[in-house]
Amino acid sequence: MTKVEEILEKGNFEKETITALLLAGEEDSGALFRKAREIKKEFVGNRVYFRGLIEYSNYCAKNCFYCGIRSGNSRYARYEMTGDEVLEAARYAWQNRFASIVLQSGERDDEGFIAKIEQLIGSIQDMARNELHITLSLGEQKPETYRRWFKAGAHRYLLRIEDANAELYRKLHPNDRHHAYQSRIDALMALRATGYQVGTGVMIGLPFQTVSDLADDLIFFRDLDVDMVGMGPYIEHQDTPLYEHRNQLLSLRERLQLSLKMVAVLRIMMKDINIAATTALQTIDPMGREKALQAGANVIMPNLTPVKYRQDYLLYENKPCLDEEADQCKSCLETRIQMAGDTIAYGEWGDSKHFEKRK
Ligand code: SF4
Repeated sequence: MTKVEEILEKGNFEKETITALLLAGEEDSGALFRKAREIKKEFVGNRVYFRGLIEYSNYCAKNCFYCGIRSGNSRYARYEMTGDEVLEAARYAWQNRFASIVLQSGERDDEGFIAKIEQLIGSIQDMARNELHITLSLGEQKPETYRRWFKAGAHRYLLRIEDANAELYRKLHPNDRHHAYQSRIDALMALRATGYQVGTGVMIGLPFQTVSDLADDLIFFRDLDVDMVGMGPYIEHQDTPLYEHRNQLLSLRERLQLSLKMVAVLRIMMKDINIAATTALQTIDPMGREKALQAGANVIMPNLTPVKYRQDYLLYENKPCLDEEADQCKSCLETRIQMAGDTIAYGEWGDSKHFEKRK
């Protein structure tokens, strides 16, 4: 029996064993992926839930060192979708029975932005007769803001910790009160207290990051008892401060493999949560998302942002499908998901089973 098989059989997921699984070579990882796939089938089924992604605006008040649309990058034209454009994208999701959308944006906390989001959530729910579940990915906000948006009709919230190691977090962000690690933790707690299904996630293969940090990230998800996770490989962007550390990076292939192992180990550790196969995986490998589905992921976010805005929402470089209209994206995904051996759960909200159980 190999070391990986032994760990999987004992099911003892402590820092040391998680690290060993993440370090497994290609031959040994087969057993890990098989186990994750079995657990996915047993606990969440071979079904994939769609979340139609609407990248509402690239205005951002923050300046994270890894992000292409940070406020300090003047190379992008800034945009904000109109209310009609958002409704149109949401209507597409509703009519095509995606059942869920994600409203994502750069981070702002001014009253104008907060009120606009509140109003958009209400308009989407009116248009779709409350049949769409709405995930927000709008960054750190005050508890009161989270409550307003929840009351308006949002159900889930994705706030990535990006790296659970506080020291590394500080290296990825400016050292000021707008980018404090503790604020991010407080925000995650406030989301849980408000009643959202809470998701978080990390970047994998960052400069300065070790495999031991990644094991801690997985333990962080478990300790926080999250309902959803979206994580993927770090991909450098040349207009960011972190780019100067690119010589320290693993190869793209290695970052992909590590990401797939992270998905697989997480599926085994947290059997009934929702795990996204993120677009960053596809940037490295055209089949990256399908490989993540085979490693235990069960959510995909087809991009519904109007094509004219997509070039300006590049958190990282070489993002795929920039010129694909929603229909092209949907039919491409249908084929790919079938190839991965899964089926799309059209018309189902696909709420996190983990959240349902905790309620
Ligand atoms: S990661 Fe989010 S908060 Fe940070 S700069 Fe990018 S869009 Fe803004």
